[in-house]
Amino acid sequence: MNRTEMWRRLEAHSNAWDMIVVGGGATGVGVAIDAASRGYDVLLLEQSDFGKGTSSRSTKLAHGGVRYLEQGNIGLVMEALKERGLLLQNAPHLVRDLAFIVPNYDWWEAPFYGLGLKLYQLLAGKYGFGPSRILSREETLEHLPTLKTEGLRGGAVYYDGQFDDARLLIHMVATAFEQGATLLNYVEVTGLTKDAQGFVEGVSARDVEGNEFHATAKVVINATGAFSDLLRQMAEPAAKPMIVPSQGIHLVFDSSFLQGQNAIMVPHTSDGRVLFAIPWHGHTLVGTTDTPITAATLEPIAREEEVKFILATAAQYLAKAPTRDDVLSVFAGIRPLVRATGVANTAALSRDHVIHIERSGLVTISGGKWTTYRRMAEDCVDQAATLAQLPEKPCVTHHLHIHGFHDEAKQFGPLAVYGSDAREIRKLFEADARLSEPLHAALPYVQAEVVWATRHEMARTVEDMLARRTRALFLNARAALEMAPAVAKLMASELGWDETTRTKQLAAFRDVASNYVLHP
Ligand SMILES: Cc1cc2nc3c(=O)[nH]c(=O)nc-3n(C[C@H](O)[C@H](O)[C@H](O)COP(=O)(O)OP(=O)(O)OC[C@H]3O[C@@H](n4cnc5c(N)ncnc54)[C@H](O)[C@@H]3O)c2cc1C
Repeated sequence: MNRTEMWRRLEAHSNAWDMIVVGGGATGVGVAIDAASRGYDVLLLEQSDFGKGTSSRSTKLAHGGVRYLEQGNIGLVMEALKERGLLLQNAPHLVRDLAFIVPNYDWWEAPFYGLGLKLYQLLAGKYGFGPSRILSREETLEHLPTLKTEGLRGGAVYYDGQFDDARLLIHMVATAFEQGATLLNYVEVTGLTKDAQGFVEGVSARDVEGNEFHATAKVVINATGAFSDLLRQMAEPAAKPMIVPSQGIHLVFDSSFLQGQNAIMVPHTSDGRVLFAIPWHGHTLVGTTDTPITAATLEPIAREEEVKFILATAAQYLAKAPTRDDVLSVFAGIRPLVRATGVANTAALSRDHVIHIERSGLVTISGGKWTTYRRMAEDCVDQAATLAQLPEKPCVTHHLHIHGFHDEAKQFGPLAVYGSDAREIRKLFEADARLSEPLHAALPYVQAEVVWATRHEMARTVEDMLARRTRALFLNARAALEMAPAVAKLMASELGWDETTRTKQLAAFRDVASNYVLHP
């Protein structure tokens, strides 16, 4: 997979595409996989990097959502639990099951949560991950040695899935490519064009170098997440907004705050949300918040009150209370929630997905969750194909392996997330031993990963490499800043950057990375 081949496919395509998908997050790339694997002809355009939006900023859980069970949304929970199971089957190199402990400090919590979690387990049916059960105080502390002991009565354990969102996404891009789709990052859709009847018949687009082109399609799909209303209003300026953007942030600490391999789930924080503390790539990830915002941006910034809220809530449960100085990285993401009447706060808004078709034929898919991307794509392609009068073709993604599929990827150590690609990366450092050198003492990444992602994963900027091809920026922002010059040097030699480009790339990265460093 590389950009040159993607452009070649685009230029060789003189007739209308079956579908053009706008937006390269989980939703859009999921649609591209579904459509291409049915045999439709698909073009996907992403204005920035794949996953630059919400899809690299999630809590990284493939889950049914215990919280939605409490809200009574059994349908959503069952659907998500099934998708969680399919994801584990189709991408075992990228998804793993994880034990979550709900600590109990009140007498009623053990029977209450124990029962709810048993129902959660039963709803998964044959896609279940592991049996939930009530734990004694001692067992709870064995699972979570860093839990606050004062007042602790016991806990309940249940199982859910965990994954690396941006890494899964890039493997999904590769899957779509292998199924015949053409996907381009750094190409923005700047307008929609219509035929004589006022039906959307294509897009105007511009790449970062300023080259403009027009492409036509039998149907255009808007998968732009929190930006969906902007594209809808390109089609119909009077379209009423359907998205209610809501921000969620995470703080990342070192592994000492959550020793071991188990996660904490706090079902009721003071603002009525769920809080997770999760082991992730040798660090501790804690989140999240639910803050309504007025407009979506590509690089959202954590608010001071959100940081304080997470620090204060974590301090209630962890033996060692984390402070600002302990924060290695802070990142924010925006939920593309769909508006509903009579719902007072964003935490209560449904996480169901919505497919909306404008009078002009633009199909918008929004809402939903990372976990349910496959099902969302199936529904969307069914409806888009009907609208475009394409020949009916069944969905084949239930058992479609995600690129790099490998049952025993653990054997590849720090390269396990690459699945079968890990062998190719190893070949790079067998050919040149310097490429096995680490990029930073605090993180597990080696130089060969930069070469690999530039050649085969369409990484174009230092930020792509440090934020999404590796997760350095999300794990330890200061370490990522220190790695940046070495990464820029490797990319410069792969992509032929001159000194000015290299300097600009570094400056742009420093600018973005400053949002991930928590200042005293
Ligand atoms: C804090 C937080 C935690 C979450 N945790 C979880 C979780 O643990 N598990 C789970 O299942 N879900 C989770 N979610 C939900 C999940 O992350 C989102 O539902 C999902 O990532 C949305 O993907 P998307 O593709 O719709 O949007 P995005 O990932 O935002 O993608 C939209 C893309 O469209 C592009 N775009 C916009 N305009 C244009 C244009 N004009 N031309 C070209 N491209 C354009 C953007 O650049 C962007 O990349 C979480 C969400 C948040 C905010």
